[in-house]
Amino acid sequence: MELILEYTPLLDRGLTRERNEDRCGVFVPEDPLLRRERGYLFIVADGMGGHAAGDVAAELTVQTVKETYFLGDGWSGPEEQLRAAFLAANQAILLAAREGGRQGMGAAAVVAAVVGNRVFVAHLGDCRGYLVRGAGLAQLTSDHTWVQERIDAGRLTTDEARIHPYRSVLTRALGAETDAEPDVRETSLWPGDVMLLCSDGLWGVTSGEELIQTLGSASDTESAAQALVDLALARGGPDNISVIVVRVLSPAGDNAPTVKLPLRGE
Ligand code: CA
Repeated sequence: MELILEYTPLLDRGLTRERNEDRCGVFVPEDPLLRRERGYLFIVADGMGGHAAGDVAAELTVQTVKETYFLGDGWSGPEEQLRAAFLAANQAILLAAREGGRQGMGAAAVVAAVVGNRVFVAHLGDCRGYLVRGAGLAQLTSDHTWVQERIDAGRLTTDEARIHPYRSVLTRALGAETDAEPDVRETSLWPGDVMLLCSDGLWGVTSGEELIQTLGSASDTESAAQALVDLALARGGPDNISVIVVRVLSPAGDNAPTVKLPLRGE
């Protein structure tokens, strides 16, 4: 079953950063056969490295992931292709860093491939994916950060992590020499679901309750994306803000089942 999706990507530099080092990409193949096999691709990348390097890393991530996912040799399913796409993006960033004298540039990224009624969410670093279903919010990603490791180990609370001086330290990212293996998670989508991909410029200044409320009260994805960006700006917009809101429209005659999601995690 191919779902009918409504989607809006939105990027804002924020109020304090001089440059926008985030990038968003939405790719929908025109060829119905390719679309049925590989689906819709949504990408949020958050570059880092300063001096124009962050933009380059984020842009390379979007382009390399797209090309590898849709055009890469062979096809062994969305999960394997996403892993190959992250690997290719990592190599592209490392190569560009060496050749361009931009050592240290990298990116965090979250990528969602919607194939049929399944979504495959891959990420590295602290870009996040969320799923809102009714009044429930599930986070589809777990940050690759120093503070998240301590939260998982029971040594920090999420409230402490939010203000911790090391909150932006990533343990995995694209462009890092060591570990560029993404986490990939698969789940079902249902009519009425709203998926959100975002950089830390949004989630760092908003709560889960606010995300549910904002996404739930918007009439379409365009107003939802704008309302989320406005909320981050109202909080001072301390970082680049990127969001992609994807809503699963209900095809005629389709009855969405009632599936409750817990508020945190799944
Ligand atoms: Ca950021």
